[in-house]
Amino acid sequence: MDKPKKIKKPRGKASLIPNKCIACGARCQSACPVEAIEMNEKGEPIILLDKCIGCQKCVKICPAEALEMFFTPEEKEILRQLEAQKGEAGAAVAEEADSEETKLKKFLAQYRGVWVFVEQTDCIPAKVSWELLGVGAQLAASLQVELCAVVIGHNVERLCHEAFTYGATKAYMVDEPILHHYRTAPYLEAFCSLVEKYKPEVVLMGATGLGRDLAGAVATRLRTGLTADCTGLGIDEKRQLLQTRPAFGGNIMATIFCEQRRPQMASVRPHVMSMPSKNENATGEIIRETITMKEEDVLTKVLEVISDASHKDSVDIGGAEFIVSGGRGMMSKENFKILQDLADELGGVVASSRSAVDAGWMPVERQVGQTGKTVRPKIYIACGISGAIQHLVGMQDSDLIIAINRDREAPIFEVATFGIVGDLFQIVPAITEHIRQVKTQRGTPKVC
Ligand SMILES: Cc1cc2nc3c(=O)[nH]c(=O)nc-3n(C[C@H](O)[C@H](O)[C@H](O)COP(=O)(O)OP(=O)(O)OC[C@H]3O[C@@H](n4cnc5c(N)ncnc54)[C@H](O)[C@@H]3O)c2cc1C
Ligand code: SF4
Ligand code: SF4
Repeated sequence: MDKPKKIKKPRGKASLIPNKCIACGARCQSACPVEAIEMNEKGEPIILLDKCIGCQKCVKICPAEALEMFFTPEEKEILRQLEAQKGEAGAAVAEEADSEETKLKKFLAQYRGVWVFVEQTDCIPAKVSWELLGVGAQLAASLQVELCAVVIGHNVERLCHEAFTYGATKAYMVDEPILHHYRTAPYLEAFCSLVEKYKPEVVLMGATGLGRDLAGAVATRLRTGLTADCTGLGIDEKRQLLQTRPAFGGNIMATIFCEQRRPQMASVRPHVMSMPSKNENATGEIIRETITMKEEDVLTKVLEVISDASHKDSVDIGGAEFIVSGGRGMMSKENFKILQDLADELGGVVASSRSAVDAGWMPVERQVGQTGKTVRPKIYIACGISGAIQHLVGMQDSDLIIAINRDREAPIFEVATFGIVGDLFQIVPAITEHIRQVKTQRGTPKVC
């Protein structure tokens, strides 16, 4: 007797939900593995149904949830036939699959809440922690759970109260002398014991030196996923954390999920997320915990802390409000003087592209971009910078971007608020001179 012909289960087709596309730059198109998406002149996708294989990649990557799956009438008919074919064997397999799924659902359901690690040194918080509370609040609202701060250190209760002013409603605190200076082992112990006891769904940490060290260690110990250096975070309909970051040398933006493990961990670089507003009157609950680890159990000892705060040349481009940045178009190290003059007039700092660093014109700590720093100043003036994607990811969230470039086709103009096409060696000194004149006329010492 002929075996009944195996019918392949249809996967559906993608379709655009009217008025929801925000024309994000064709992320759906770049995610599609079979070129089933074309873009119209408004930057919205057109799905070619005959090519679509129903992989759902476009649906998952869309930041505006503008795409959904549907079954064509033919697919619906196949589904109906499959339903009819389902025999006992099918039911048994389905039951097994169901029990696996139920187990996973049960496991995932134990984890609730969004946690933000409050990084500190000598009780001075890293600003990125408050930035993370800002985005954490949005995630917590989507998940309808609490936003919690995790404060680890010695004499750090003040930071719990500060975390409440930035949106946390609860703080888990481990306050012990052994935690005074950051060392991986005791911090790891403190963090993991909190996670094992209270089971958060999402954990966010700053992608600083300390944060990177701790996040990697915690994720390894808990055997869960960690996405480093995220530039975007969101929640999907399955309560999954959507972790977006540049991939393949910054040429594409990848959205990463952690489907089967908890907590879902992500680190975010300073200045990528905006600061939340502060409510000085906000209060919350502090949960105090201890660790069993003793000083003699810790192999590393801090003998001396040498501060680099007095380092004369140290400039924090990450925290600057005005940045004048130069690229390969500056032609030489000496020419950066004209950028310094403009920065001085604005009360800002000079930064650069990687090309200028590679050429030895600027120190590496001034580099903006994917392998440099992320900046978010009020004004970013890009001089002789072409606007490669690896540079843009580090500065495109600046409040206002002014680009000066003699090539009118340069990609930097795509993100610029104001673009000036011309020779920077004429334009930059002219702007500096104009600011000086305005200041002299007004008699004010500062331009805002
Ligand atoms: C893995 C990886 C990571 C990277 N990370 C970074 C990073 O963190 N940061 C970063 O910046 N890059 C990074 N890059 C390098 C990046 O791809 C580009 O090569 C780099 O940003 C280009 O620098 P640029 O714009 O200064 O130089 P160019 O691309 O050479 O552009 C110079 C621009 O100056 C203009 N110009 C020349 N003379 C004048 C003039 N007189 N007046 C006005 N305009 C003028 C030109 O028209 C041109 O647009 C990375 C690359 C890779 C592969
Ligand atoms: S569902 Fe998959 S194959 Fe279909 S359009 Fe989207 S990405 Fe392309
Ligand atoms: S990913 Fe979404 S928002 Fe972006 S172009 Fe496609 S449909 Fe529009």
